[in-house]
Amino acid sequence: MIAEIIAAGSEMLTPHRLDTNSLFMTEQLNDLGVSVAFKSVVGDSLDHLTSAARVALSRADIVLFSGGLGPTRDDLTREAVAAALTIELERREDLMVMLRERYAARGIVMPPNNAQQADVLSGAEVLPNPNGSAVGQYLVTFLGHLPRIVVLLPGPPKELKPLFTDEVKPRLAARLPSSHLRRRLLRMALIPESQVDARCAPIYEQYPDVETTILAGSAEIQLHFVSAKPSADEAQARVDDVAGRVEAEMDDAVFSAQGESLEEIVLLHLGMRGLTLATVESCTGGLLAERITATPGCSRTFLGGAVTYTDALKTSMADVPASLLAEHGAVSEPVARALAEGIRHRTGASVGVSTTGLAGPAGASSGPDQGKPVGRVYIAVAGLGAQTEVRELTLTGDRERIRLWTTQHALELIRRLLL
Ligand code: AMP
Ligand code: MG
Repeated sequence: MIAEIIAAGSEMLTPHRLDTNSLFMTEQLNDLGVSVAFKSVVGDSLDHLTSAARVALSRADIVLFSGGLGPTRDDLTREAVAAALTIELERREDLMVMLRERYAARGIVMPPNNAQQADVLSGAEVLPNPNGSAVGQYLVTFLGHLPRIVVLLPGPPKELKPLFTDEVKPRLAARLPSSHLRRRLLRMALIPESQVDARCAPIYEQYPDVETTILAGSAEIQLHFVSAKPSADEAQARVDDVAGRVEAEMDDAVFSAQGESLEEIVLLHLGMRGLTLATVESCTGGLLAERITATPGCSRTFLGGAVTYTDALKTSMADVPASLLAEHGAVSEPVARALAEGIRHRTGASVGVSTTGLAGPAGASSGPDQGKPVGRVYIAVAGLGAQTEVRELTLTGDRERIRLWTTQHALELIRRLLL
């Protein structure tokens, strides 16, 4: 079974509004083992909606419409679907009563154009909407000899979501062959997508029944595996099997085998060893501490940190000798090392981590850092192993990217030192 979603609304063809209902419905449909094969956004035009509905009904078993069920002239979904299916709309007296009562409760007479909200596709079930005046509609029908399920839902997400969960999902579940979906997510940091794919494709291609997706995101690669099977155990076994083999192939590169974030994993490993952490940041300006503190439960491990942007603060807050700064510049291996050791000493943390670099767009205009390329970054970790570990990085991209990748490298260095 495949589904198609049509989001009706001209506002979503502007740069200002996004169709989010289809994302929600896709997730819910996937839960049922139904994949979405097509989706579209269509403006409030009867012709355009009718033609989109015709195409969708010709190729998808389940067609879901969101929006265009209101009382105004641009609410045309009911009419368009009726035209595409060549069936009638029936004005339902019970809905007229309900609509009049809604208005009466507010002390106003219902404007006549509201009556269209009582129009229901012939043969459709009405799905009551406790959060608004537009009801949903659920129709099981045939297009020629092709069985079709057609669903109409109001556009406001606060109305669509409960209607889908409470009314549509159980109806679909009852009709669908029982199918259980299981997912696994492997995450890897700082490794090129092409390299991941070259090494993993020979494995996951042996699992044609598992849907594999590679996503390259912010300084990480994600591998998603999804399996749908008649039994949940069977589906779980398939995703576990492929994920296990890919993890073995990628070895240490996989930082998370259950979807956890890199900062979560780092905190977990530090915590398991009873170690504490402190940060001192220059070019990342607190972003590393922000990522760490965004993780619930971090207080058991994370003591705190400093943002030492100027040379003076590097000295006063992390005991970096002024002579070291004068000789090598703030963006240098010795200063990164001194920062990590200094913050570790100052805070009493088991582990100190530092970042210092040129995030751009301009480089240093004077002093010992002058001439160092934008993207030159040093990170250091003190307290894991006999010596402080320092890494020189040459990162590319804009300021935001350089700062994010710096935090990723710092977390990944801690993780690898803990392995
Ligand atoms: P409608 O049912 O077309 O009258 O839509 C009412 C309101 O719901 C719109 O003004 C939007 O704010 C919101 N809306 C409609 N369709 C969507 C959608 N696909 N995703 C998110 N919000 C939507
Ligand atoms: Mg609309």
